[in-house]
Amino acid sequence: MHVRFECPACGRPGQLSLASSGDWQCPACDHRHSATTVDPGLATCPLCDNAQLYKKKDFPHGVGLAILTIACVASVFTYAWYEKWLTWLILIGSAAVDGLLYLWVGDAIVCYRCGAHYRGFEARDEHKPFELVVGERYRQERLRREQLK
Ligand SMILES: [Zn+2]
Ligand SMILES: [Zn+2]
Repeated sequence: MHVRFECPACGRPGQLSLASSGDWQCPACDHRHSATTVDPGLATCPLCDNAQLYKKKDFPHGVGLAILTIACVASVFTYAWYEKWLTWLILIGSAAVDGLLYLWVGDAIVCYRCGAHYRGFEARDEHKPFELVVGERYRQERLRREQLK
């Protein structure tokens, strides 16, 4: 299992392999994270003990966007050259590739509270897709915390 997260004290991105319990010392500040128990089902976030997590597709947005952009540019040229069939082929083909990529990539589980990304294991039924209402609540909480500092 692989975790990506931001240091709660200074926001610096960090990475951690959670094979067992692990300590993480932020290289930029003195903050220490200790993931005490790692539940294999990930009912709670090992970094902040928050019980609300959501799942999302671990899809590299840049890749999908790049494919679409290239397809659009290419179709402009083929269209200008009166290659209608080729234009359609490029547009439909790129959409299909995007769709396949989307199905192929696995789920990542993300903590609402600290934003840590967990990769490398199956999402369960408890892990729902992102809900705006819940996300907004945590965003407000984060803003309040930052104002207190
Ligand atoms: Zn830090
Ligand atoms: Zn968390």
